[in-house]
Amino acid sequence: MAATRDLWGKNFPDDDIPPYPCPECDRGTLRCVPKSLRQMTSSNWNRALQEGFISPPDVVANFNLFLQCGITKCGTIVSVHGDSQLMERNAWDREEDRFFDLLTPHGMDPAPPLATVPESTPEHLKIEFSTAFALFWIDLGACANRLRIIVEKILDHQGVKAGVLAKRIEAYKTAQPGHADTFDALRFVGNIGSHEGEASREAVLDCFELLQDAIAELFGERTTKLTGMKKRIIAAKGRV
Ligand SMILES: [Zn+2]
Repeated sequence: MAATRDLWGKNFPDDDIPPYPCPECDRGTLRCVPKSLRQMTSSNWNRALQEGFISPPDVVANFNLFLQCGITKCGTIVSVHGDSQLMERNAWDREEDRFFDLLTPHGMDPAPPLATVPESTPEHLKIEFSTAFALFWIDLGACANRLRIIVEKILDHQGVKAGVLAKRIEAYKTAQPGHADTFDALRFVGNIGSHEGEASREAVLDCFELLQDAIAELFGERTTKLTGMKKRIIAAKGRV
């Protein structure tokens, strides 16, 4: 996820849509379906424009478009909607490149994954992750709060006794100190999301990255697999 941090900005130009990962398959990236971008402006904006109260860059339009997975066999379609606004480029060679539409998504369905969720992750947690991915575009505070709920459910799965989250994490610390710190970090960001109604984009992206690392260990058994791989290579003296 760290290497793909620049994918998850708040908005993007209509001619430079980030290559989001496919929500269905592990391999594909999403591309804009040609000519699928549609924009409409409400009557209030049109009236203000006609009467000269505002200029075109002030108008906020609604947009929707479709993305599709580049892997032909998958071909998953993602529907995106949000706001668009005309912007002027800092540098442009041809007059027709001078302006572009800046698209700010307010929803993606199904939403691209912000973290790799191992195949062996329990089904109910996979659903929670999908919800968190969708909330990322709708409400960052609600997304952070959902990550906190995921922490609760991971602790349930790990057999940590029910109770106040801070105490549960404390109890988990003796078994898994590294993960307990991750969960504590997520608890703080989730608290901000719950009580103050918002969480910073960077903080939420940090949480996804930390959580991805934790579930790779807990459900993907990353260390066990890597240790096994090292042992196999050493035992075979490299001839694997
Ligand atoms: Zn795909």
